[in-house]
Amino acid sequence: MTAALPDPFFQPSYVVSRERLLEAGHLLAARLGLTVDSRALAGHGPAGETLALDFMIFGARRPRHALVISSGTHGVEGYAGSAIQHYVASRILPRLALGPDTAIILQHANNPFGFAWSRRVNEGNVDYNRNFLEQFDPQKVAPDYELLYDTLNPPDLDPGREAGRWEEVQRFIDRTSLRHFQQVAVEGQYKYPQGMQFGGHAPQAGTRHLLALVAEHLAAAETVVWLDVHTGLGEFGACELITGAAAGSASHLFSQEVWNGAVKSASSGESLSTPLNGLLDRGVAAALPEQCRLAFAYPEFGTYPMERVLRAFRADNWLHVHGDPRDSTGKAISAELLEALNPDNARWRRMIIERGAQLVDQALAHLPGVTRPGAHRSAA
Ligand SMILES: [Zn+2]
Repeated sequence: MTAALPDPFFQPSYVVSRERLLEAGHLLAARLGLTVDSRALAGHGPAGETLALDFMIFGARRPRHALVISSGTHGVEGYAGSAIQHYVASRILPRLALGPDTAIILQHANNPFGFAWSRRVNEGNVDYNRNFLEQFDPQKVAPDYELLYDTLNPPDLDPGREAGRWEEVQRFIDRTSLRHFQQVAVEGQYKYPQGMQFGGHAPQAGTRHLLALVAEHLAAAETVVWLDVHTGLGEFGACELITGAAAGSASHLFSQEVWNGAVKSASSGESLSTPLNGLLDRGVAAALPEQCRLAFAYPEFGTYPMERVLRAFRADNWLHVHGDPRDSTGKAISAELLEALNPDNARWRRMIIERGAQLVDQALAHLPGVTRPGAHRSAA
């Protein structure tokens, strides 16, 4: 066995990832053409860095056909998504030839605050992937979320009381099911800004920027293939492709065509994911031109067992409502959230890159105007 080499694609922080990706992009500009539209948000990162969405368009400025790869919708999950973007920039784009109407777009950090500060949510505790709604109802919450409110959002982390709360969760699961508990805990709620899985009371700056980027740069699009990378659900290193589109809808069928029948609809109970509110892909679909065909998938890479991941979400929410991120408890909670969503494990990282490369390759094979060296070309 050889000693593990440092992974060249996973980056140490949001700001380093951003700088290196922009730099890699500029090196490719002469070959492919590059338009960068960066949208800075208010606030900054831990080192005072700018927080921005960077929409990097390689190829056609006003594409008819585009592959979009986006990262960091859930902030800290952006380590895996950006690693795939760095892989694409260094291993795929230098060898690709694009027709005049085709573009490859890397959208770095949909939620740059969460990526920079190691949280899933933004500065207002809003989960971006529950925030893509046209109308917000501040009373919207599942009755069982309210029933479990103190268990999901504990006022303290006292070990004795915590044990009692997990027993309550177990009784709830015995009475209903694990899947129902999962749905209640993560589907998104709009009533409690300090509670877990808060979807917001209005569109957030980042989600508005993302939809504006789509509306502006993809206004002429006829084909869009989109991968938005997530982590934390499923077996260690395994990947499930999820869409928010209804099973059997035109968008779901096109996604199935691109990714070989592997895309599962969250809304119809066939996925590891339970139905979710306010998903990004629904917002993107509404922002694209009406005739545009959209194949969309969230690659969801598993990390640790669901209970560990959920405990990490819950402790992180407690920390930012009741605790102090600077003390030792706070630091331990943040470190555990990071590990739960970005395992410090060479095998896991390799699995992300290998599967990510495959998904991108399948997407490129279905995108008009792409020549992949080495790929078999059909005589269309
Ligand atoms: Zn996620």
